[in-house]
Order: sequence, then structure tokens, then C-alpha cells
Amino acid sequence: MARILIAGGGFGGLVTAEILSAELGKEHQITLVAPNRMFTFYPGLVQLAFGATSIEDIRFDLEARLNELKIHFVKGNVTGIDRYDCTVDIVGDDYNGTMNYDFLVLATGPQLAIDRVPGFFDKSHHLLGVDPALRFGKAVQDFTGKNIVVGLCPGAKLPVAVCETAFALANRFEMEMAAEDVNIRVIFPESLESAFGGAHFSAQLEKAFSKHGINVLYDIPISEVTTNEVHSSKGHVIEHDLLMLMPPFRGHEMFQSLRAVDENNFLQVDEFMRVKDMLNVFAVGDAVAFTGPKFAHMAVRQAKVAATNLKAELEGRQPSEAYCHEIATIINANGPDSIYLHYGIWDQEMYKLKQGRLWSWAKDFHAARWQRQHA
Ligand SMILES: Cc1cc2nc3c(=O)[nH]c(=O)nc-3n(C[C@H](O)[C@H](O)[C@H](O)COP(=O)(O)OP(=O)(O)OC[C@H]3O[C@@H](n4cnc5c(N)ncnc54)[C@H](O)[C@@H]3O)c2cc1C
Repeated sequence: MARILIAGGGFGGLVTAEILSAELGKEHQITLVAPNRMFTFYPGLVQLAFGATSIEDIRFDLEARLNELKIHFVKGNVTGIDRYDCTVDIVGDDYNGTMNYDFLVLATGPQLAIDRVPGFFDKSHHLLGVDPALRFGKAVQDFTGKNIVVGLCPGAKLPVAVCETAFALANRFEMEMAAEDVNIRVIFPESLESAFGGAHFSAQLEKAFSKHGINVLYDIPISEVTTNEVHSSKGHVIEHDLLMLMPPFRGHEMFQSLRAVDENNFLQVDEFMRVKDMLNVFAVGDAVAFTGPKFAHMAVRQAKVAATNLKAELEGRQPSEAYCHEIATIINANGPDSIYLHYGIWDQEMYKLKQGRLWSWAKDFHAARWQRQHA
């Protein structure tokens, strides 16, 4: 019997658990450790903030789902990894101590590097959870000022959330914008291309922003936030009465001991999703050091690759399922300007761009299908 330990209960951890449970049968022990008993469908948080979906539609009971799959759930945080003893330290409600593993899958998502943007937590809204999304939604409802700023901090990896928030705000304040009582600005630290991993579709996205009256500003590396201003390391000062930023990400500090991290502490893996130079340790999702933005569909695909290769190793075979780094995403502009983008970050020949109202519906449909399949 092998002991398989999955750290993290987001997209990467849950999908890894589901596949291993289906593929391995009962003779192996699978444990998932996560600090929350609930799963949150993050791509639905913009919709939640604007009242276009409900909490029940984007959150479900992770522990109940794992019980169904006969996977042992431990509510806690993995706080340390010993690569030589093959143990992890866990601190939490259900368990405090050390746990052994034969295989480890690290799916702990990102950590916020907010120390890089002083003022972020006090002066800016964000959308990294149900409560912050609802708080932002309330601030939008109560808004009586003029300047709304939405932005991606340097090192932030979620450009879709920024774009969708800008479109939702433009929808909400359409009349006020026409009367020039409200203006909406979107800030990117570099170009649109670099925010989207090199995909060349800025003409279409810029056109959509412009059609909705949204001003886009490039090369603004946000470095500090005050009550009414956003400052950049290049000397820009931008006024705001309402601010929503995506903060910089980094990998967990505990990864440092593995000596397989990049300069931002993200885990370096090979094409089989094995952590570099480590035996029996895989990593998936936002915790991994691949270039470009981070997406749920990447975490899901990486989980499939990791689970397939873990099974192969367990059965004494060589891993053979390789990951290909690509973006497949929808930017919901709430209507005909919605964009579908499929772009190969490792294979630029792979490129598809479509636009239309259909993609707005497709995103809603996909969210509902995820809930049906995984809740
Ligand atoms: C507002 C918003 C909008 C988004 N929109 C889109 C979109 O439209 N399309 C898209 O594809 N992606 C989107 N994303 C990105 C997507 O949600 C992430 O890429 C995805 O959640 C990554 O999955 P993950 O499993 O790696 O990490 P997460 O989903 O962050 O899960 C990490 C898990 O690890 C747990 N954890 C953390 N630390 C520990 C620890 N020490 N020990 C154990 N467990 C731990 C967490 O509690 C959580 O359960 C959006 C994200 C946000 C915030």
C-alpha cells in the first residue's frame, strides 16, 4: 500500500485526488490536506461581486466530496517538507504533527507577496476569496466618487480577473460614464501581451475596452497604494476613489527547503510535473514555476498529467504523460465583445481567437458544469 499525500484542495489538488481515487482503487491510502473544508470556484468571484451569481453556485463542500471518493481529508496547513525522510509537517484543526508519504503532490496555490505593494491590504480591494469579492461588490454598489482603477500588480498572474472586473464596472456605470461622472482605468505593469504570456490579441482586447469607454494604461508597475493614489516605481501617480488590484504572487516559503524553486519561490518541475531532482514529489497549479499567467484550466491539466505519471511510477513504469503549457480562456465582457483565446505559450503555432456573445454564455455554462461534475 502506498501513502499518497496531496497538499491543497483547489483545482489542482481536487482533480489530482479525483483521478487517483478513480484509477488506483482502494489498496492505496490517499490523504488531502487543506486549510478549508470548502472548495471555491475562483473564476466565479467577479460574477459574485457583481451579483451575477450566488455563493452556493461557486462554493461547495470539499470534505463531503472527498468522503464520497474515500479520500481522507485533513483540515490543516502543510508547514514543512522533509525530502529525505519523506514526511510533511501539518498544523491544523484535525491534525498536528508529522505525516509520512510515499508520494507527495504539492497543489498549495500561490501566496500573496503583498509586502511588495505597501498599502495593498488597507487601501485596495481584491477578489481572492468570497468575502473580499462581496466587500468589493458592496463598495461598487455604494460608490459615489469619480475615479475607478483596476489593475494588475507586477508579479500578479491573473489578467482575466482584471479585464472582467473592468467590463463589469463599465456595464454597471454605463450611464455615469456617458455623463463623464465616472471614469474607469485599467493598469498593466507591462504590455497586454506580457500579461497574457505573449499572446498577440491586444488589438481585439483594446478595441473592446475602448468600446466600453475603459482607458487602458500600460507600463505602470504599481509599487505603493495610498487612500486616493496608486504609485508606480516609474514615478506615476494615479488618483482613485475605488481601487481593485490583483496582488503579486509567490510560492510558499516551505518550498525553499526543496531547493527546486525559481526566484519567486515557485516550484520547478519537469514536463511530467515532477519536482526537479526529487523522487516521488509532483507539483501542480499556481504553485508551479511556469512562465506567464496562471489559470484554473492549467492546474486541472497539470493535475491530470501528475496523477497519470504518479500512477505509472507506482506501478513501476516510466512516466510518459507530458504537459504542454497553453492558455485556453474566456474573457467575459458581458456581451458580444467577450473573447475566447487559445494560445500555446510553448508552441506559438497554437493560436485561436474568437469573439462574440456566445463566449459569455460559454463561461457561465462551464462554471455550472464544473459545479455539477465536482461538487
Ligand atoms: C478572481 C479570480 C478570477 C479568476 N478567473 C479565472 C478564469 O477566468 N479562468 C481561469 O482559468 N482561471 C482563473 N483564475 C485563476 C484560477 O482560479 C487559479 O489558477 C486556480 O485556482 C489555481 O488552482 P490551484 O489548485 O493551483 O490553487 P488554488 O485554487 O489557489 O488552491 C490552493 C489550495 O491549497 C490550499 N493551501 C494553501 N496553502 C496550503 C498549505 N500550506 N497546506 C495545505 N493546503 C494549502 C488552499 O487552501 C487551497 O485549497 C481566477 C482567479 C481569481 C482569484
